[in-house]
Amino acid sequence: MIDLRSDTVTRPSAAMRAAMVDAPVGDDVMGDDPTVQRLQAQVAARAGKEAALYFPSGTQSNLAAIMAHCGRGDEYLVGQLAHTYKYEGGGAAVLGSVQPQPIEHAADGSLPLDKLRAAIKPKGDPHFAHTRLLALENTFHGQVIPQAYLEEAAAFARGQGLAVHLDGARVFNAAVASGLDVAEVCRPFDSVSICFSKGLGAPVGSVLAGSRDVIAAATRWRKVLGGGMRQAGMLAAACLHALDHHVERLAEDHANAERLAEGLRQVGQVKVLRQSTNMVFIDVPGQHCEALTAYARSRGVLMMAAYGGPTRLVTHMDVSREDIDTVIAAVKSYFANA
Ligand SMILES: *Cc1c(COP(=O)(O)O)cnc(C)c1O
Repeated sequence: MIDLRSDTVTRPSAAMRAAMVDAPVGDDVMGDDPTVQRLQAQVAARAGKEAALYFPSGTQSNLAAIMAHCGRGDEYLVGQLAHTYKYEGGGAAVLGSVQPQPIEHAADGSLPLDKLRAAIKPKGDPHFAHTRLLALENTFHGQVIPQAYLEEAAAFARGQGLAVHLDGARVFNAAVASGLDVAEVCRPFDSVSICFSKGLGAPVGSVLAGSRDVIAAATRWRKVLGGGMRQAGMLAAACLHALDHHVERLAEDHANAERLAEGLRQVGQVKVLRQSTNMVFIDVPGQHCEALTAYARSRGVLMMAAYGGPTRLVTHMDVSREDIDTVIAAVKSYFANA
């Protein structure tokens, strides 16, 4: 199947599996796993941070970061549509006793500074939570957030005494798409969470990079949250393999998404809303959503045409250029007979 539902669906390649099988391991909760240590050191270096920590998921990495920056009764400023607000089960509030203060996004995905300023609570007034953290996301629904904005927002937040966290689940997509070094993209932030189980193609894991202090606090929260893993080097080996072999190739996913968007623009009934990095957003007329999804599946294409909302199509390393042509042909042939 050509699976366009998400870039989380990639399966480890034969070479990645071989690297996993051969990885030297130890008990990582005791700090004994050499492969986890190597991954953490490499990610810290690439992100330009002092230290890094391996997590089972991006959700847990973001949560541990929020809990490292904020305590009970504190709050973080976050996008209304950000993963760390909307798609993590309210974990910061549920498990961290940290209140989110959601902010409306501008069209480019950024959070306007005047809205951030207005949301920061006055200090010393018992009515209010203590505003401690600004959490941003890059890429944001595929969009590369402009570097100048990231720098400006971080400087603004620091000026207000806030820490700054980046949900960089797809920060390598942002770096590759903008031609910047990933350390440059991460530079404005105190902590950055990076997913390895998305476009980078590893089966499991995220890495949080940041200062020694933030990582020390996050290490404790990771254990509290049940994320301390033992011989995790077998998993970390997949991430090391991804760092060596799957970063530059993200450009192919971006080119394939562009090709997909171009092809779908030729289908009159489909409206291509936008293409950014490895994501294409389209509008499928409501009455065709179910039938198109079923027809695509019969032609070997997994996509979920969304009724009443944009349909997201995501390219990744298990989707080739030829596959893209198959997808375009399937959508064209559906509408030719609809
Ligand atoms: C996937 C994702 C996460 C969380 O990662 P999981 O490993 O699925 O928990 C966080 N932020 C963004 C933007 C993501 O896309």
